[in-house]
Amino acid sequence: MTASIDGTMARAARPRGGAIAIADLCKRYGDAIAVDHVSLDVKAGEFVTLLGSSGSGKTTTLMMIAGFVDPDHGSIAIDGRDVVPLPPERRNLGVVFQSYALFPHLSVYENIAFPLRLRGEAAADIDRKVRHVLELVHLADFGARRITQLSGGQQQRVALARAIVFSPPVLLMDEPLGALDRKLREQLQTEIKRVQRDLGVTVVYVTHDQEEALALSDRIAIMSEGRIVQLGNPDEVYEQPVSPFVASFLGESNMLPVRIVSRDHAIVRLRFTDGTEIVQPRGPKGVAESVPDDAILMLRPEALRLGTDVGAVRGRVQGREFMGATVRYTIASPVGELTVRVARTSAEARLAQGETVGLHWSPEHAILFAEASKPP
Ligand code: ADP
Ligand code: MG
Repeated sequence: MTASIDGTMARAARPRGGAIAIADLCKRYGDAIAVDHVSLDVKAGEFVTLLGSSGSGKTTTLMMIAGFVDPDHGSIAIDGRDVVPLPPERRNLGVVFQSYALFPHLSVYENIAFPLRLRGEAAADIDRKVRHVLELVHLADFGARRITQLSGGQQQRVALARAIVFSPPVLLMDEPLGALDRKLREQLQTEIKRVQRDLGVTVVYVTHDQEEALALSDRIAIMSEGRIVQLGNPDEVYEQPVSPFVASFLGESNMLPVRIVSRDHAIVRLRFTDGTEIVQPRGPKGVAESVPDDAILMLRPEALRLGTDVGAVRGRVQGREFMGATVRYTIASPVGELTVRVARTSAEARLAQGETVGLHWSPEHAILFAEASKPP
């Protein structure tokens, strides 16, 4: 018996997500390489996000998993079964794409019932399943409405309900919240996450919104120019970016050019462009042998602390922006301009423009990179 989305059965036999194995996937359009040797394993029940700027190959990758685009090369297996030869409707995947529109002339109920009617399910089963997902997406009282009578957020919830009503093992979503305002987006993020946990469905999610990716994902695949340049859980990709490109794509960062003037087994000596020298411990996250003498020291704005003493580097408060939860300073210093973020409630939040400060950081929050701005 296959697991059903029905509440009682779900408790008895929890629907389990499918495992996706993508290997060496490639797709070109003429001379343009849309997807360039992408390999990715998504575990059953996992939420993986493809994150990247416009044109980085996210949609093309998702369309190949869904079956709407044929790969030039590579393989896609779901639960060990090669799906590349199968048309989209035989892959049994839930999809929420921006372009995969709802039927405006049908009711909410009929939109959601549609995939079940396609599968020729019995009327009683259809009714039970549609009612159940309507409740899951908090639209229990909206079944009779027409799509045109719904807000954008409600329409997206109908699209989500339609994609999960037939208990697919895999749910694919391409920028499903892109058109919504911030408040609604955050609400729906919470809902998508809750529904995904309840169902145990595997999700591959596409967005260019880094905050959305960080909030939703078990793992994030950062894409650039058709390739996955880093794959890891949100903490890893944020705290240990593999390149300046990833670091600046995911959150704010300060990039200071430095020269490594000496390295021994325990410490390295770094020289900033103004001649200031500092020593940093050379821990496991420290300076790899592969980093050349000319390097970039990366510091996140929230990893910097401001003191009234001298500090490793001295600076002056040039700008202060009140951001709500945090205060964001622009600090002018001889080694370059720095952005510093402190909690609104911290003692450092009340510095005035023109004040002299010492900049501090823990060495474990600093990363040395070999190169400046190119994607790896
Ligand atoms: P993303 O979703 O990350 O914005 P896409 O996967 O849509 O990126 O596109 C990746 C690259 O492939 C882009 O350069 C885009 O212009 C190109 N591309 C995508 N689809 C087509 C197509 N049908 N014909 C020609 N080029 C395409
Ligand atoms: Mg896209």
